Amino acid sequence: MFYLGCHLSASKGYLHMGQEALSIGANTFQFFTRNPRGSKARRIDQKDVAALLTLAAEHAFAPLLAHAPYTLNPGSAHQKVREFAHMVMADDMAIMENLPGNYYTFHPGSHVGQGIEAGLELTIDLLNQVLGPQQTTTVLLETMSGKGSEVGSTFQELQAIIENTDRNDKLGVCLDTCHVYSSGYDLVNDLDGVLDEFDRIIGLERLKAIHLNDSLTPFGAHKDRHAKIGAGVLGLKAIVNVINHPRLRSLPFYLETPNNVEGYAAEIKMLRAAYRP
Ligand code: FE
Ligand code: FE
Ligand code: ZN
Repeated sequence: MFYLGCHLSASKGYLHMGQEALSIGANTFQFFTRNPRGSKARRIDQKDVAALLTLAAEHAFAPLLAHAPYTLNPGSAHQKVREFAHMVMADDMAIMENLPGNYYTFHPGSHVGQGIEAGLELTIDLLNQVLGPQQTTTVLLETMSGKGSEVGSTFQELQAIIENTDRNDKLGVCLDTCHVYSSGYDLVNDLDGVLDEFDRIIGLERLKAIHLNDSLTPFGAHKDRHAKIGAGVLGLKAIVNVINHPRLRSLPFYLETPNNVEGYAAEIKMLRAAYRP
């Protein structure tokens, strides 16, 4: 089964996202639990969520992927900002239990000059406080491009977080193709080598989701500029290799390309045609 979806707006509710996904040939999707630049969570309408879960089950959707707000930085030097990150993520974990067994991805933070070791510790701190034994949500660390002082742009950093988190049975990784290429993992010329390295350092069993994006900036640029599929430096051929790779092809793929819904529909159609049965 080829699980492919894209980022959708949650502004019209949960069921609407499921219907929109179906209408564009998707069988999963990503969404924000709250305003990506703010903190206010939408009130959960139980009926709306239940209707989405029914629809997702009927159409054999892959796990849904929630994305934490960009403003969440557990690595901040300011206690207030760190407390905000803890509060928001704890609240998101509670929200996610309304749709049990799905995924929640977040950016592991920026250490803002405190050094990578401090950044890693602060992220581990967040996870040790927020992950609960009863939760059914798997929290995914997103692979980052390493812009500014971002934490999580190497497989070693992600593994350090996983190793030192108490409840790491609740942790996985979301690999963003734009970000890893920009951080210096050559998906274009050495996809096998990158996956071997991921497996050696983290273990491919931790890889739960792929953010499928092309990139505007050159290899190793440590920038975070997504491009439409085939319109960036990765190119269509490399992206088609990613979706068909034997070690990746059964994972869910989520597009975060600069598109409106019609644009996503076209990319989904193109990628489905390129997926080898
Ligand atoms: Fe992200
Ligand atoms: Fe991403
Ligand atoms: Zn990005």
